Amino acid sequence: MRRRTGSFPEEVYGKEYLMTELARAKINFYLDVTKKRADGYHEIVSVMQSVSLADIVTLERADELTVFCDHPAVPGGKENLAFRAAEAFFRETGMAGGAAIRIEKRIPVAAGLAGGSADAAAVLRGLNRLYGTELPDAVLCGIGKTLGADIPFCICGGTALTRGIGEKLFPLPSPGKCFFVIAKGETGISTAAAYAALDLKYNHFCAVPGAGIHDGFHCENRFVDGKSVSCGKSNENNPDIPRCGRLSGMEAALQTGDSETVFRNMFNIFEEVVPPECEEVFAIRNELLDAGAVSAMMSGSGPAVFGVFREESLAMRARDRLRAAGIFAESCVPEAAKPNQ
Ligand code: ATP
Repeated sequence: MRRRTGSFPEEVYGKEYLMTELARAKINFYLDVTKKRADGYHEIVSVMQSVSLADIVTLERADELTVFCDHPAVPGGKENLAFRAAEAFFRETGMAGGAAIRIEKRIPVAAGLAGGSADAAAVLRGLNRLYGTELPDAVLCGIGKTLGADIPFCICGGTALTRGIGEKLFPLPSPGKCFFVIAKGETGISTAAAYAALDLKYNHFCAVPGAGIHDGFHCENRFVDGKSVSCGKSNENNPDIPRCGRLSGMEAALQTGDSETVFRNMFNIFEEVVPPECEEVFAIRNELLDAGAVSAMMSGSGPAVFGVFREESLAMRARDRLRAAGIFAESCVPEAAKPNQ
């Protein structure tokens, strides 16, 4: 091992040379787009949950930076988000280090589960341990958000309300004991294409004065003292529960531990623009509900779908039924936040 020449003195380097980090997938219990900014980014409001379905990321000290991924659809090297995260780590810390990074893909790719962001987050956490730099999560999140809006959430994990372009985190209590089945059909969805379809539907999220941000479909989620507040207006698709009332209902239910209400209020705007070639999403959702899920919905920009189960045995049966039909399906559980500092 060559002597390092970065700005950190030798004694602050960690003692470990090889380590493994789990890169956990995320699902969205709630996801709405509230605004398109002048720079083209969309502002969202989301309740995210990290789950035990995870890629395995191995990091080894090395002179050079290399990234290998075992999935044929995911590039290695500089094209991989994990490589860019490692570069940013060394740049920000001023260290002249390297690492041999290996990613074993378990999270379906381009599925709305933030697999790339999870790997990048695992690399930032892992390098922080590998080199003993002891950067607090807030600093790692600051590095991560320059590469991807979901990376700060993936660094912290747990259950959180996210705002801005997804980078502003407000931790929430966990929904408690439950079991998820995550399933995905053959065809992937590009996140950029999903946003383009929403732009078309909602006129680029141009607010009409006096009307809701979505041009009368529903009103903008409002925030008072950092908490979301329902406007009470109903939505044409879901007249039973006001659309933005779902978010405040979900947050209140998480605070009081009322998981039934949490799952009854699930919402994802991207379900409105699922392309025809991915209609399988709705068949999988129905299959999960038929198999006993208390609720089921697409995650992120799709096409992965998750079902929520109270009983592990029901979740396993649902997973096996989907697998028997040739569909990717995995069971997992919610993961709590694991703060670094
Ligand atoms: P999000 O929910 O954040 O939009 P996603 O789950 O829909 O993400 P990813 O699995 O992160 O999508 O993959 C998106 C694209 O990023 C893929 O086409 C892939 O080639 C590329 N990519 C780069 N690095 C990675 C990585 N480490 N893991 C997965 N995909 C990666």
